[in-house]
Amino acid sequence: RKPRVAVVFGGRSSEHAISCVTAGSVLAAIDPEQYDVVPIGIATDGRWVLESGDPERLRITGPDRLPAVDGDRATIALAPEAASTGLVVTEPSEPPRTLGDVDVVFPLLHGPWGEDGTIQGMLEMAGVRYVGAGVLASAVSMDKAYMKLVLAAAGLPLLPSVTVTAGEWKRDEAACRERADRLGYPQFVKPARGGSSFGISKVHDATELEAAIAEAVRYDPKVLVETAAVDAREIECGVLQALDGTPETSLPAELRVGGDHEFYDFEAKYLPGQHTEIDIPADLPAEVTAQIRELSVRAFEAVGCEGLARVDFFVLPGGRVVVNELNTMPGFTPTSMYPQMWAASGVDYPALVDRLIRLALARDTGLR
Ligand code: ATP
Ligand code: MG
Ligand code: MG
Ligand code: MG
Repeated sequence: RKPRVAVVFGGRSSEHAISCVTAGSVLAAIDPEQYDVVPIGIATDGRWVLESGDPERLRITGPDRLPAVDGDRATIALAPEAASTGLVVTEPSEPPRTLGDVDVVFPLLHGPWGEDGTIQGMLEMAGVRYVGAGVLASAVSMDKAYMKLVLAAAGLPLLPSVTVTAGEWKRDEAACRERADRLGYPQFVKPARGGSSFGISKVHDATELEAAIAEAVRYDPKVLVETAAVDAREIECGVLQALDGTPETSLPAELRVGGDHEFYDFEAKYLPGQHTEIDIPADLPAEVTAQIRELSVRAFEAVGCEGLARVDFFVLPGGRVVVNELNTMPGFTPTSMYPQMWAASGVDYPALVDRLIRLALARDTGLR
């Protein structure tokens, strides 16, 4: 029989909706001649919903519904500009068998409870193959403080940062402020475990620190305060393993936010008409491009990633390149950076999805 692929999407994190949009695209791209697909939604309260994989049941529920897995039915509504692709799950249906019949899981989850090693651990326990990074690499990459420890230990260039927890701020605000002040201003304040720019603020001076920490704490009691890369260029690079395991890199891309966005925030990332410009490939000197690609592989290997990752960089005005962060399950709609970078590098969207599934199917379910 054909390998059965469970596409798991939604989830408990603030990136639930992005995961649903991503799943809509991946479900549309998996070749039904090659694979039997089982869509599984996770509602925001953590409930799992088994869906029928029958393409006849896929339809659009409304042009601009915020996509969400909804109670006992899975709903993937597409963003309006993507609606023409015409593929969306909605109808609740009889559960298709148990997870034991699944050959491989595609955990299309972003953020905590999915991109952080939790579902990966559950699948390891069950001996089920899955796409992407394992438990440790997922957990390390999800927590920006630990990610930086690991990347720094591997000699990768990073921006200085400190960690502040909600508890520390309450107990000894002065000590927290002192630690943050030493970084200088402006700064970026981020939830340690997050994504899609949720909870991130630019802090121009010390008076803005408290509000920024309060905003980040809405997403994670652990907060990273980081020196801002001022007037830097923002570059991203995709890493994808070849079937023999060699990490390969895409052409890097540059993004420039416009309009009234001070940085690449949620709206600039996902909403149409936000004036975010993307250059693929990034217009960089050849040696900087080569450096970014090399650093991407080093970051991928330092953390011990598998399958895929998107590494985000800043190129500082003097030309120094620093790693901002690494995402083990980057946004994955056809218009997301990761698939676009690969499309420009000769791997189109269906080929990318197929490669990731093949890599996962080839995986050893013992200790790696
Ligand atoms: P992703 O959706 O890529 O997972 P994220 O929520 O993990 O995003 P970051 O990539 O760390 O967050 O930051 C989001 C954006 O904020 C960056 O793309 C950049 O525009 C801005 N930013 C973050 N840190 C800095 C910094 N130190 N200096 C300048 N800009 C920054
Ligand atoms: Mg991230
Ligand atoms: Mg992310
Ligand atoms: Mg990022």
